[in-house]
Amino acid sequence: MSDATRPTDDHVPGDDEFDPIEVFPEADEMDLRPGADNCYKCSTCDTNCPVAEVDDEFPGPKFQGPEQWRLKRQSDHDVDDSIMKCSNCMRCDHACPSEVPLSQMHNSARGEYVDERMSKRSLEYWRNRLLSNYRLMAHLGSKVPRLTNFVMGLTLTSVFNEKVLGITSEREFPEFATETFREWWRARGGSDASRERAQAAREERGESGAEKRVAYFHGCYSNYNTPEVGKALVRVYEHFGYEVVVPEQRCSGTPMFANGMLDDARRAADTNVSELAAAIEDGADVIASCTSCSMSLRQEYPELFDIDGVDDVSSNTWEGLEYLRVHEDLEGELEGTRADVPNLAYHVPCHARNQGLDGQAIEVLTTIDGVEAQDVGESCSGISGTYGWKEEHYETSMQIGEEMFEHMERADGDTGLTECPTCAMQMEHGTGYEIKHPLEVLEAALVPNSPGTERAATDGGIDETVGPNREGQDEPFGAN
Ligand code: SF4
Ligand code: SF4
Repeated sequence: MSDATRPTDDHVPGDDEFDPIEVFPEADEMDLRPGADNCYKCSTCDTNCPVAEVDDEFPGPKFQGPEQWRLKRQSDHDVDDSIMKCSNCMRCDHACPSEVPLSQMHNSARGEYVDERMSKRSLEYWRNRLLSNYRLMAHLGSKVPRLTNFVMGLTLTSVFNEKVLGITSEREFPEFATETFREWWRARGGSDASRERAQAAREERGESGAEKRVAYFHGCYSNYNTPEVGKALVRVYEHFGYEVVVPEQRCSGTPMFANGMLDDARRAADTNVSELAAAIEDGADVIASCTSCSMSLRQEYPELFDIDGVDDVSSNTWEGLEYLRVHEDLEGELEGTRADVPNLAYHVPCHARNQGLDGQAIEVLTTIDGVEAQDVGESCSGISGTYGWKEEHYETSMQIGEEMFEHMERADGDTGLTECPTCAMQMEHGTGYEIKHPLEVLEAALVPNSPGTERAATDGGIDETVGPNREGQDEPFGAN
């Protein structure tokens, strides 16, 4: 595991100053009242809430958090049903100047609302449970991906989803890949093959130090829908000499928190913490390619669950680009590289901002020749995972996203860039742009034979042969 310091601001989960309050002291239920007492009613959280900005009926994060907890202190107060309108973007949590644990309050209030007030026979409950457990659907659907993609693309299916389940028919269901990331990983030889590739890369790089190892938390979407993101992470990390291991894992829990399904989230967290803590014990750091997954492992797990190893997992989890910035000379490595992906419109996901990661993708990627990226602003994309898939929230979700769509359309080009898979869905839905992950751009610049890779020769020209990485150096393996 790493001793390196995160290059982030002082509000970053996982650093020394982040101190989640004890939620399970000896009581049966969470006691967040001390956190509520920190609130001095400045309303900064309310002015940063994208839902409150477009929905006059949503009382906002101050009410959902500290005010509800104050009410609970005074009387037998039920959680207000408006908590289900919060999209869990966590912008309020980031904005609060007084360290009020808003996200922890909202997550626990949603859990209480679902447990105590939502009928377990209602379609809303089962729709939310289905959306929260996307991994289960994806696991089944990806067994027969072509058939599933065909069925999910039928108008009849969309109509059924909207009329019966309350899942909007305005969005196209994301397609399943014909080969999942884990299938590709196994066919490629798993961690044994990765160890050999990493060792050969370290020899090529003249590194004589200790082995370097990372445990990849791919999450659901990179496994079932966009395995190219996971492949890019593996190839880029191996290029730097890292052995990649891919532990058993379940959903990070992000959609479960957002829907108040805390029992489901707890079960997933039990598996993830146990597997990732074992990998950390073996010397690995945990790397996630999705910023909501890293957010969940870093902040939401220790805030909500008292599981052995949860603090270790929290403090040893990193986002894919962030880790390389801290542990390698990433910008030096990228000097003289080329990737032909001009005019990228970059959107920073809210959960990336919460981890202090805003700005890093543009800063790093624009050191690559041929890459131009424009930040399209700080607004929320509006989809917030499952939120924008619900029929009753679709219009709100699109209203929130309007500013981002406009900025994307004003940027030159028609390719978007973001680290969050659901922000990517919203960006594509609102603009029709193709969306890439920053790791795919890194892969194109650093790993020969990857799609789109071209390498600048040392004389400043472009190596059209897409062969050796640098003059006089052979890449040990092709881009398998
Ligand atoms: S930003 Fe923090 S201190 Fe200000 S009203 Fe919201 S919770 Fe209270
Ligand atoms: S998490 Fe987002 S939607 Fe929910 S209250 Fe906070 S800012 Fe508003």
